[in-house]
Amino acid sequence: MDSKSISYIINELGEDRENYFNAVSPPIIQTSNFSFTKVDQLRKAFEDEYSTFLYSRGLNPTVRILSQKLAALDGAEDCLVCNSGASAIFAAVLSQVKSGDHIISVDQPYTWAQKLFNNILPKFDVSVTYVDGRAIENFEAAVRPNTRIIYLETPNSWSFYLQELEAVSKLARSKNVITICDNSYCTPLYQRPIDFGIDLVLQSATKYLNGHSDVVAGVLSGKKILIEKIFNSEYLNMGIGISPFNAWLILRGLRTLPSRLEKSSITTKKIISYLESRDEVEEVHYPFNPNFPQYKLAQKQMLGAGGLFSFVLKTKTIREIENFCEGLKHILMAVSWGGHESLVIPGCASIRPNEFDPNNKVHRRLRMYTGLEEADYLIEDLEGGFSKMA
Ligand SMILES: *Cc1c(COP(=O)(O)O)cnc(C)c1O
Repeated sequence: MDSKSISYIINELGEDRENYFNAVSPPIIQTSNFSFTKVDQLRKAFEDEYSTFLYSRGLNPTVRILSQKLAALDGAEDCLVCNSGASAIFAAVLSQVKSGDHIISVDQPYTWAQKLFNNILPKFDVSVTYVDGRAIENFEAAVRPNTRIIYLETPNSWSFYLQELEAVSKLARSKNVITICDNSYCTPLYQRPIDFGIDLVLQSATKYLNGHSDVVAGVLSGKKILIEKIFNSEYLNMGIGISPFNAWLILRGLRTLPSRLEKSSITTKKIISYLESRDEVEEVHYPFNPNFPQYKLAQKQMLGAGGLFSFVLKTKTIREIENFCEGLKHILMAVSWGGHESLVIPGCASIRPNEFDPNNKVHRRLRMYTGLEEADYLIEDLEGGFSKMA
């Protein structure tokens, strides 16, 4: 997608300013229902809610402006904007399986995808096999006659491991299996899975797309035939649509997506060079770092890598990691990412202190997200963290 198309999509596509007083910013159509003057119009709306404004659990004009833009960015025919990334995952997966079916998922997908696979789907006799997604052979070996979905997340938001989109979608097609890819890490600006043959692409709009840490939302994109089916079933049944106000906030956030991504990526490179110069840092994991094991693949299928990365501290004790995190003044300790503010999460927050094993790199790993602050400001803060470590 060229930059002219991106500018057009973000600034104009789906907007119909003459219909709302030529306002530059679209209105928030905060209504639950829409009225009709002819019975026949109402009848048509009942028959085809996918194309008619009837009730805001289905279509809403403010949400529709956003969904047209997000589908175009993904290179998809249509998309659904959901009230979370987690509900987009739920709807995508549920729409493709029935009792007795099998799913292949990449190892360690996003936590709530894992919980869906491990805790909810087994109740309906749907099973999952996790594979190391770095080699296509692992997917090939896991396919069964009842496999319905191959579920991907590339890069993974903790390990940053990639899957080769083209190879996996080719395999899936030959076996009549649907591919679903979580594209939250890249956003459609840095990777378009649909261009590589992926069927359904989803992402947490909570992260970069909204970008201001004030909305939880998700997007699910694909061919119209798939999206319409999900709309008429899972989307309407679970009531997972986004509210008009939250859609409006994301529209506002989207206007600056290219600039925010660029700024965050440039600052990240500086932060990574700084971290690599520190004796306390054992390694840095970032797909666009030339020493990243899958750097070549990252260069092939991604246009950029944004602000999310991780690094491993050389420590013997958990206390040093805690001191480092608690010693930061500006970089906040919080989940999520993609907003204006820089963040850190230590892997050791997921274990009890007595379980800490200094030989386990995962325990010594910290995930960092670079927000929109200036590099010097962040580096000074990291410097402060290191000085408090011992
Ligand atoms: C945050 C996130 C999700 C879930 O999105 P929510 O908006 O929090 O529901 C899914 N996948 C990835 C990779 C995420 O980072």
